[in-house]
Amino acid sequence: MITPRRTRLLRVPDLAAFQATLTDVAGQLTLGSARSTFVLVPTRAASEQLRRTLEDRLLTAERTALVLPILGTRNDWYGELAARLAAPPRVVSAFEREVILASVARAVAEQGVEPPFEIRPGLVAEMLDLYDLIRRLGRSVADFDRNLRGELERDRETDRGAEKLLQQTVFLTAVFERYEARLDALGAHDEHGLRGLLMGIADDADRAACPHPLARLVVTVGDRVADADGLWPADYDLLSKLPLLECIDIVCTEAMLASGLLERLHGVLPELGEEWPGGPAARAPILMTPPPAPGGGPAPVAYRYRDREEELSAVARRLKAERRSGSLDPAPLHRTALVVRRPLPYLYVARDVFAGSGVPFEALDTLPLASEPYAAALDLVIDVVSTDFARGSLVALLRSPHFQIGPDAVMPAKVIAALDAALAESRYLGGFNRLEKLAAEWSAIDVPGSRDERRRKTAAPAAAAALEAVRPLAPLAGPAPLASQIETIIGWLRRFDRPIDGEMPAVSRRLRVRAAVLGALRSLADAYRFHDPEATGDVSSVAAAIRRWLGSQTFAVTTGEPGLQIVDAQAARFGEFDDVQLVGLIDGEWPERFRRNVLYPSSLLVQLEPLPINPDPFRRERDALNAARAAFKDLMLLSRRRVRVSSFVLENDAVVEPSVLLDEIDTLPLARETSPEMRMRVFQSEALALEPRTTDVLAGPARRWAEARLERSTLTPERFQGAAGAWTLPRVSVSRLERYLDCPFRFFASEVLKLEEQPEDEDTRTPLERGRFLHELFERFFEEWQQRGHRRIDAASVPEARQLFTTICEDVLRDLPPSEAALERTRLLGSAVSPGIAHRVFSMEAERATDVIERLLEFPLQGDFRFRARDGRERIVTLSAKTDRIDLLADGTMRVIDYKSKKTPELKIALQLPIYSYCARVSLDGHGGRKWVLGEAMYLSFEGNKAVVPLRAKGQTVDDLIAGAHDRLLATLDRIAAGRFPIQPSKKSLCGLCPYAAVCRLEYAPSEEADPDD
Ligand code: SF4
Repeated sequence: MITPRRTRLLRVPDLAAFQATLTDVAGQLTLGSARSTFVLVPTRAASEQLRRTLEDRLLTAERTALVLPILGTRNDWYGELAARLAAPPRVVSAFEREVILASVARAVAEQGVEPPFEIRPGLVAEMLDLYDLIRRLGRSVADFDRNLRGELERDRETDRGAEKLLQQTVFLTAVFERYEARLDALGAHDEHGLRGLLMGIADDADRAACPHPLARLVVTVGDRVADADGLWPADYDLLSKLPLLECIDIVCTEAMLASGLLERLHGVLPELGEEWPGGPAARAPILMTPPPAPGGGPAPVAYRYRDREEELSAVARRLKAERRSGSLDPAPLHRTALVVRRPLPYLYVARDVFAGSGVPFEALDTLPLASEPYAAALDLVIDVVSTDFARGSLVALLRSPHFQIGPDAVMPAKVIAALDAALAESRYLGGFNRLEKLAAEWSAIDVPGSRDERRRKTAAPAAAAALEAVRPLAPLAGPAPLASQIETIIGWLRRFDRPIDGEMPAVSRRLRVRAAVLGALRSLADAYRFHDPEATGDVSSVAAAIRRWLGSQTFAVTTGEPGLQIVDAQAARFGEFDDVQLVGLIDGEWPERFRRNVLYPSSLLVQLEPLPINPDPFRRERDALNAARAAFKDLMLLSRRRVRVSSFVLENDAVVEPSVLLDEIDTLPLARETSPEMRMRVFQSEALALEPRTTDVLAGPARRWAEARLERSTLTPERFQGAAGAWTLPRVSVSRLERYLDCPFRFFASEVLKLEEQPEDEDTRTPLERGRFLHELFERFFEEWQQRGHRRIDAASVPEARQLFTTICEDVLRDLPPSEAALERTRLLGSAVSPGIAHRVFSMEAERATDVIERLLEFPLQGDFRFRARDGRERIVTLSAKTDRIDLLADGTMRVIDYKSKKTPELKIALQLPIYSYCARVSLDGHGGRKWVLGEAMYLSFEGNKAVVPLRAKGQTVDDLIAGAHDRLLATLDRIAAGRFPIQPSKKSLCGLCPYAAVCRLEYAPSEEADPDD
């Protein structure tokens, strides 16, 4: 016998009546009936919102205490039903379900029923979703197999995709059957088993089996077509058959019922009676709209902004302006709501926007646990192993404020920086053994004999501490049972935890997040140990499992403080507000995109839908859209006084379309009033940046700092554009001046401030080392060539030159590691596809007819040189330089050569070649009793696009180019001496790999590239 029950549909005209009906239900409860009444709401945030509304409405001066019914979600309802049984069943957690399913999936595959995909944690979750879908639709695994297999077998001859889906169906059927058998064997239940258990309780045993049943259920959600958090066919089946449930009240607005829900409810609950408890609809709020466009036409219904940030900024501006002017009789902040479809992006933006404008706000939604800093720090622990203890991940671990590594609470930043640089210099590319070796070597340094050794000695304590920290993690690198791998991580997190100091809310939040992370890891480890002890894996499997789990966990946090309410669309239905703004009305969000199953197309899954509910998948999507329209209309009428809607056009710099729901606004009975955008300044940044500037908006050190900055506002703008004050260049070097011309600020960072560059991981020689290697190689070759009595390399002597060069190369390549030597050999001597560096150098000479009398290699240009600018200025500059090569030729001319590894400098800023050519002419005057004329100057590029780039420009002689270089040299010296170091890269591409990009405020600099003649 089924318990006699009353099943009512309480039809209400709008959300005001919806809330009033719920208030009536709650207000009439006694202590006893409240304990047996469950109000089913869509989300936890909705439950909190309803609790507040009920307390606001029911608590009065006369009624100071309230007994509320149980408020909870669908999951909470199942949990409550299980907990009320005399012998509560063992219900498996979500952790356990995934582990069990992964375990049986592996076993099924090992027995030869192969899946057409690789079994990964993400796909296990999708398989579980599919299983839940089947069971929530009220179908069994056998139904799934029969329906899909029948359909697919019909198509397998003509459709190759069907064959694959058939294989998948065979596999999934076997997995789901094994999963159910495993739960049976454990005597445990999931949601579906629990439902069967509850419906199977014999009526005569009702009272004994469930001594304190839920006698009344108030349903505030729709079905799963109308509501993502709604009830499924299997839930309605449970409602019909659940013993001892005496009363079911479904509360729903007329708009939602008219969207198709009414028909569906009568389909699943044939005994449903209808009542109209509420009065007439409440007065509709006024729709506030932006003014019409200047050209005329009707006012648009929605405010439009650039992006979410600008949208919230406008909200802050309006709220402050309304309160300052007092003209609009603003609603109190706690009765002002921003209704969002997806809370997360707004919660992140709100923290900055509302903090910056001093608007308190509150949100009830949960945030992803993975986005909390402590949870993100767990990635550092995983990364250090998955990167094989690479330099970057080690340093990141040491810098994390969440872990205490080494004896001190905080490891000094300069020690960590020294470790970073020392590891890079040692060409450390990871490996626990290598780290151990380096740590031992560095700790043995007693009296450092060089700069490198000094750095290593400084880094030694950090290396030792890092080694001790990662030693317990080393087993993660190899395969081991997943349960013990996760235990290793839990143990590490406990051992190296660094408690944080700070203000209480932050400390308490961090403690709660840490407890949640450790709790999630503990549950995962227990699930593996109990249900899948044979599951093994290394750090990549552990990382995938942990990331999958942390990614699906949420963390309840009250964001902000009481004030403006940021509520999601589900929770908003339960709140009372005077001023409502529906924000983010864009396509894909209002309404949310329909989530499709990744394993099967909708056209196949529709076979599982219970008749007569929507056998047509497109009809179901249409019904869902109708329900979204109805929910939107309800929300538009939620406010007691004013409502606004807003949208934006850019999401992550991509254009987004406005929501189709905006079209519904014209169908609503809303009076309209235009309200222009408020222009007043409300942000701290505006108070500090716009005149009249004020620091009142800040407190503490921030205010003192701002005041100090404002006092300096008399400084000339030049001080902010690179005027650093006079500076003396200790020693003039032309390559340094060229560096200044590349970018004065980069020169300032490296030469004046002496900021160290961020170390890079190099497994081979650095470009500098390789450049030096090539220079030395050619110096040695040409010395030997000349000693053997040779002069010019011509076509006839190229084979001999090549032979000699090969011999010298083989000699020096012996000092390189074999793999690097092989690569270098190909670069130098060439291959089938590339002629090689030697060919470039020899060809340059062979193509020129004049004989070479002498080669001056690494020729020093030292002493005082007189430079004269074209405007008549003159200065003697002491130089100490070396030119790569000067060839003295038989015709009394000389050829100045500057070797370059790849790129050659732009002639308009190049200094070295013209200045060295000039200095060579001066220095060699009278050399060998002759006067030498500059015949040619060139860059010889070893591996650039062009082998030879002559010092030549259209319409200019070499002397013109040298005169231009004199101008630049003197101007550059003047600018350095005057301390002018603006952010002025000679070309923007330099900034891409610039090591000083982090300290250079390029975004504030004028956009033009440098004028070298400036
Ligand atoms: S990032 Fe660009 S502008 Fe800034 S220092 Fe480097 S090269 Fe100069």
